[in-house]
Amino acid sequence: MRLTATALLLTLPLFGCAGNGSQKASSGQAPGLAMIPATRAGCAPLPALDSVGLLRDVFRLADDSMRGRHLGSPEGAKARDYLASRFDALGIGTIAPGRLHRVPVIAAPRNFNVDHAFNVVGVVRGSVSPEQYIVVTAHFDHVGIGRAVENDSIYNGADDNASGAAALVALAKHFAAAPPRHSIVFAAVDGEERGMPGSRGFVDAPTVPLDQILVNVNLDMVGRNAKNEVYAAGPGKYPQLRPVVEATANCSPVTTLLGHDTPAAGPGNDWTNQSDQGSFHRKGIPFVYFGVEDHADYHKPSDTPERLMPGFYVGVVRTVADFIRRFDEAPVARVPAAP
Ligand SMILES: [Zn+2]
Repeated sequence: MRLTATALLLTLPLFGCAGNGSQKASSGQAPGLAMIPATRAGCAPLPALDSVGLLRDVFRLADDSMRGRHLGSPEGAKARDYLASRFDALGIGTIAPGRLHRVPVIAAPRNFNVDHAFNVVGVVRGSVSPEQYIVVTAHFDHVGIGRAVENDSIYNGADDNASGAAALVALAKHFAAAPPRHSIVFAAVDGEERGMPGSRGFVDAPTVPLDQILVNVNLDMVGRNAKNEVYAAGPGKYPQLRPVVEATANCSPVTTLLGHDTPAAGPGNDWTNQSDQGSFHRKGIPFVYFGVEDHADYHKPSDTPERLMPGFYVGVVRTVADFIRRFDEAPVARVPAAP
């Protein structure tokens, strides 16, 4: 606990400066992305993030009042509208038809018989190549109310995947502070736990041309790991991404490992199609998926926000921001996936 608390505190005063333009103005420099020194020697400064806002958002999304954010539930809609309000408050752009993008759902009793859902979508327009896109995704739904364990039937899904959804907001806020070279789309997608209608809908009825998406960056379960380890999967399928992912990993404040992205990982251990990055992969769009290995609270009512590890969580989201920054500065051309 001490280590995580210290790591979090280190980001706070520096973040405070990031939101204050007067310091930058007095230095005569143009406003830029908020950065803080890297913890590893030889590494350039890493992106700073609104770590306080990140934790506020993840606690809000994983609160008992959200009742597990099941696809089609009133509380799923509440989580969706909360994320939309956060994107609106940041003032980030929209893509037609607007902040909410309707996607079809195969109606089923376990999906409350709803036949549609909505993704929450925002964009920060690029300054050099605005018609080329980096698409950052995270699902905001979870499995709702289920079998009680120790008298608790609310499956909060704090790590899975309130952590990724809240990270989208922090990343959007970071990149909105200074235009990237390429446009960055932030899409909170619905229904990952029920067949991924959100990400499927995003690519099946695309609102940005699929051939103009350079890469998908997906976050699913990024809030805790007892070994301080997160995986960046994708280079096994798209080897051209390996140099930029390895450079990111080498400077990450957490242990960032490559893997879980080839058949050699064994049955169930190739994560390529196990979260929303799979929808992009099926369209031939390269992906990098950030996520942790399953923990004891996976898909249990005990996946609660107080079990998140703030130092690790902030470190992972900064790592994702660093990957996006590196990729934006030197994008990797698309080539077909390896088998
Ligand atoms: Zn998930």
